[in-house]
Amino acid sequence: MDFRPSDEQRLLRAAVREFAEAEMRPHVMEWDEAQHFPMDLLPKLADLGLMGIQFDERYGGSAMSAVDYCICIEELARVCPAIALSVAAHNGLCTAHINMFGSEAQKAAYLPRLVKGEVLGAWGLTEASAGSDAAAMRTTAARRGDGWVLNGAKNFITHGAIGGVMVAMAVTDRTKGHRGISAFVLEHGTPGMTAGKKESKLGMRASDTSEVVFQDCRVPASQLLGEEGQGFINTLQVLDAGRIGIAALSVGLAQGAYEAARTYAKERRQFGQPIAAFQAIQWKLADAATRIEASRLLTYRAAYLKDLGRRMTRESAMAKLYASETAVKVADDCVQIHGGYGFVKDYPAEKYFRDVKLLTIGEGTSEIQRLVIARQLLA
Ligand SMILES: Cc1cc2nc3c(=O)[nH]c(=O)nc-3n(C[C@H](O)[C@H](O)[C@H](O)COP(=O)(O)OP(=O)(O)OC[C@H]3O[C@@H](n4cnc5c(N)ncnc54)[C@H](O)[C@@H]3O)c2cc1C
Repeated sequence: MDFRPSDEQRLLRAAVREFAEAEMRPHVMEWDEAQHFPMDLLPKLADLGLMGIQFDERYGGSAMSAVDYCICIEELARVCPAIALSVAAHNGLCTAHINMFGSEAQKAAYLPRLVKGEVLGAWGLTEASAGSDAAAMRTTAARRGDGWVLNGAKNFITHGAIGGVMVAMAVTDRTKGHRGISAFVLEHGTPGMTAGKKESKLGMRASDTSEVVFQDCRVPASQLLGEEGQGFINTLQVLDAGRIGIAALSVGLAQGAYEAARTYAKERRQFGQPIAAFQAIQWKLADAATRIEASRLLTYRAAYLKDLGRRMTRESAMAKLYASETAVKVADDCVQIHGGYGFVKDYPAEKYFRDVKLLTIGEGTSEIQRLVIARQLLA
């Protein structure tokens, strides 16, 4: 067992941190207020290899490990969790699904554009009445001639309005339950596919979240992704790995909030001394630092198992559950340590506090993570 990062991993962390500080930090509040995703960041992210972190070099990817992936997402989230969310959804959901289950022709057609950041990827599982119970989806894909016709709507889709490529799940055989769900890969602009309502959100506001509507959306047979009827089963595998990304995002957000709180505690004086001199504040910082380290270790362990090609359903759910709940606690304490200044937009505390709540909800709520873990324990 070796807990030391390699020299390459140290350099990677330093490079992503420098990028996030220079290219993102100055604009974080402006993007948040405007609910604007900065498309001009895509080529810069791609230059660093962050649009295709774990994908094969033959498609232009960076071929990094899952542990490296965690380092990248952590460093982006430390500065702007919303941009980290978009990068994680692009890499870990849409692009990963095509990479894991696409045919060679589909990979050749889509992966190079995705990993170069020419287009953002979107991934549509959730519907208005099918969230945690995603298999209850209503969107259908019916065979017509040599293709498929999609009807229905996907809800809360990251990059639903601005994504260039989307993977969407639809029912192809209602009689077969979750074994009657298939995945499709769709291009933005396909007739019958439109962006619906753009959500106005509490946090993660720079990351686009929109509805996607399918109305007699006709696609050729070549757009079926993976085997017919395997879409939902494949989705569970995509989510196993995707959750490692949300765990890493949680570690990075918590790290950012903790650092902001520590800096403030050393500067802010009350009763004639820095508030960091009070034991009540020291204990909050000590608990935050300890929980963040534990979250990081759980997250890297799940990533390490992924790198070994092992199943990590339990470990990724544990990492996501623990790291996201830790991040909520750390962001809350960060506001508390800032006092009234934690409640206003001049300091970063309030934004971490708003952004963090998504992490116990997206890619499976905390309750669903516990359900996944318990199933694994009792199997
Ligand atoms: C900003 C944002 C981005 C998102 N991006 C995407 C995306 O890109 N693609 C995508 O497909 N989806 C996306 N989602 C959707 C997200 O994955 C869902 O919101 C999430 O899975 C929860 O579903 P729901 O909102 O319908 O809540 P519900 O499933 O209705 O849950 C409501 C409450 O009931 C609890 N609950 C439900 N079932 C159980 C149970 N069996 N046992 C105990 N408690 C239970 C939940 O834990 C929760 O507390 C996004 C959501 C947001 C907010």
